[in-house]
Parts: sequence; structure tokens; C-alpha cells
Amino acid sequence: MSKTKKKKTRIVLIAALLIAAVLVFCFGINRWQVVITMHGDDPQRIEFPDTYEEKGADAVFTGTILSFVRYSLPVITEGEPDTEKLGTSWITYKADLWLWHGEAKREVIVEDTTAPVIHLNSIDDYYTLPNHPYKEEGYTCVDNHDGDLTEKVETKEEDGLVYYTITDSSGNTAQMTREIVYDDRNGPVITLDGGKELVYYNGTPFHDSYSASDDADGDVTDKVTVEGSVDTSVDGDYKLTYRVKDSWGNESTAVRIVHVKPRPVNDASKYADASKLIYLTFDDGPGQYTEQLLEILDRYKVKATFFTTSAYPAYAYCMTKEAQAGHTVAVHTATHNYAQIYASEDAYWADFNRQNDVIEKMTGKRSSLFRFPGGSSNTVSASYNSGIMTRLAAQAQNKGYVYFDWNVTSGDAGTTTNTETVYNNVVSAIQANSKHGYPSVVLQHDVKGFSVNAVERIILWGLDNGYVFLPLSEGSPTAHHTIAN
Ligand SMILES: [Zn+2]
Repeated sequence: MSKTKKKKTRIVLIAALLIAAVLVFCFGINRWQVVITMHGDDPQRIEFPDTYEEKGADAVFTGTILSFVRYSLPVITEGEPDTEKLGTSWITYKADLWLWHGEAKREVIVEDTTAPVIHLNSIDDYYTLPNHPYKEEGYTCVDNHDGDLTEKVETKEEDGLVYYTITDSSGNTAQMTREIVYDDRNGPVITLDGGKELVYYNGTPFHDSYSASDDADGDVTDKVTVEGSVDTSVDGDYKLTYRVKDSWGNESTAVRIVHVKPRPVNDASKYADASKLIYLTFDDGPGQYTEQLLEILDRYKVKATFFTTSAYPAYAYCMTKEAQAGHTVAVHTATHNYAQIYASEDAYWADFNRQNDVIEKMTGKRSSLFRFPGGSSNTVSASYNSGIMTRLAAQAQNKGYVYFDWNVTSGDAGTTTNTETVYNNVVSAIQANSKHGYPSVVLQHDVKGFSVNAVERIILWGLDNGYVFLPLSEGSPTAHHTIAN
């Protein structure tokens, strides 16, 4: 072998060795591979009900040592997480180049770590009575996963607090606390049996009866204190003041007037025959015919009764004359305005007192006798206040007032304007009453001249037939009608 040939051979050998070394390096020591890099987190956690956003992945073909060689490859993504359900799913990323295959998996966890939200409703100015259980103002509870959990909230009241607790299906717990606002704004209600005014006849032992109950404390009757006392052996008006406090400190008071007065003497007990008694009564005056009437009554020494009004103030002086002559001056009404006086009990007694003030001014003395405008059986009052006549009649009794109706109708209030008819109506009705053994309470109006003109004949007829004319007093027959409202 020539030298040159040997040299060539060595060169070829060395080259072959070098190539072999490069090949070993390239495909043995440096490993080629497909590398996949995922963007975003792994595992990827999603809070229910958020949606999954695919961040994707990159793939490159590269070597472990010859990493400067980078050849990008398309990535195939497989799988999609079900974010409607809690749990784990996988996304697979794949890329291929000739014999090389790369793959990566991303764990996707759909989870619920959020506690339910409790919302407490509150009502403006809401409060709970002390020592009373809290009455719920309301609440709602919503969970991100379980939805409406209001029904499942557990509540517990303790030491002025209400605890609301809920745990969702993933074990997340929420709690809310409400502070109970305690208050008591109403004092006890005092009930005076028999009403705010009571009449006791002299000598009757006084027995007080009342009760008190409180919204928070219940029956507090035994805590009531009473100021004042009643001596039923001495006539007069006695004031009793009732006071009671609830445990919150609210005080209530009530006042009662007890009228002690002589027991009225029944007219019938003084006369052998009640059917021979006539009570002439005149409503709606005094007016322009009143003086004329007083002269007639005087002439025969007959005493009558005037249920007065303030319709004609210029004739108010007649009340003084009536009283001086021994007639009874009683209350009818100040205004005679049905809509006004029958609107309420307060309105009625205000009008009543206004007229009694006039009577007191003109006669020096208030009256305890009265006649309801329209009589106690009127139904016109029902259009202003249902049941008011029933209540007024009861109140009148407690106030110590006696009301009178009538059992002889003269007809002068509308059915006639004729003196003769008035006379006949009165006489025939008196005769009918006598027949049944009743005394007669006659209704006329001294503001009607034709009616006043019948009085003299009525008196003459009465005296001729053995009747006695009397003024009304508390012991007189009341001739009550049946109350119809
Ligand atoms: Zn009248």
C-alpha cells in the first residue's frame, strides 16, 4: 500500500468516525422529541358556575441538547370539561412529527368553595316586645351551586340574638346573626267596668271593678293603683284615678267619675192612679210662642217640661221664666243638626253640654233630664253612625242622665198644622193610655203657634176629667221607645 493510499484510508476512517460520532451525538446523546407546553394552570380550578376558558398549548420539535433546534408543530386538543357538574375532567394536547409523538394532559377541576349567602330582611321601625319570642322579619338564602336554600336555613334564638346557619351540598357553611330590637311602646289598657262614669244612688255600697292588661306583661290588674275614694253617703261627684305601669315603664292612666245622687222618688208612688197623670212636654223652644204658653200654664197652675234648644237665642230668657214658674227645663239639643250630633258619641255629648251650659246660665242649674232629637227610636242617626243610639242610651245612664221619649203624639211635627187636630190627637191618645193604665207623656212643640193654641183646651179637658199635670223629674215615667239603631 502506498503512503498516499494509506493516508487516504486514514482520512476516510477519521471522517467515518467523525460522522459516526456526530450521528451518535445527534440521535443518541441528543434525544429528539416533541415538547408540549400548556398555557394557563394545571390543574385548572373552576369555581362553579364559571365557564372554562381554553388557554391552549404549544408544541415544538426539539432536542435535549440541540435545543436551539425548534420546530413548531400544530397541536390537537381533545376533550372539553363539563362545567355544569362538579368534578374532574381532562384535556389532552397532542402533536406529531414523523416517528415522534408528544402528549400532555391538563386536569380541570370544577368545584364549589363558595358558601351560600344569607340575606336578612328588616322592616322599618320593627321591634319585639320584651320577654316575647322574636317574630321573623324574613330572610333569603341563595347558593352559587344549590340555588335557593331559604327553606333549609336553620334558625336559633338565644340571648337577644337570632342565629341563621346553612351548609350547602359541598360542605360550605354560612352564618348570620341578627340582634333583636326590643321595645314596648304601649302602656297597659285599663278597662273600667261600667264605663268612665257611674251613677250610685245614695246609700248603695260602692264596689269598684276594673282590669288592666298589657301587650307585653299580660294581666297587670293587681299593679293598678287607685287614687281617690267614693263616699256613697254624701251626694256629689267623685273622681277616681287609676294608674298602672308595665315592666318597660310605660304608664297608663284612666279616670272615672262616680256620681252619688239621691234615689229618685217615683211619681207613681205619690199618686194613687198613674193612669191619671199627664206630662206635657214641649220641644225645640224657647221661641216666639213660649211666653204665650207660659201664661196659659200659669193660668191653670199646670207645670210642664221644656226640652230646650238654642235655635232662637233671642228667646233664651224664657228658660229663666220657665224655671222660675216651676216648670222643668231640660236638654234637647243646641243645634238640632242630626248629621252633626249623631256623627259620634263625643259630638253628641259636646252638643248636649253646650245646651246644658245655656240652661245653667239661664236657670242657675244644669239638667239631668233630656230628650234625644228624633227620640231614642230614631233611625236617621243610623246613616251617620251605626249603633250610636244604643251606646248613647247606655252612656246617659252611666252619666246619671235620664232621657224621655213620649207616648202621646200630637202630630204637630208634620202630619198636621191644625189646632183642632192637635187637640183631638192628644186627647184620644191620653184616653187610650188611661184605658191601659199608663200615664201620658205628651209631645208638642212650643215653636208652633197652632200647637200652643191647643194647650188650653187640653188642660181644661184634663182637669175636667180628673187628670193631674206634672213636670218631669228623674222619678217620672220615661215612655221609652224601642231603640232601633
Ligand atoms: Zn226636636
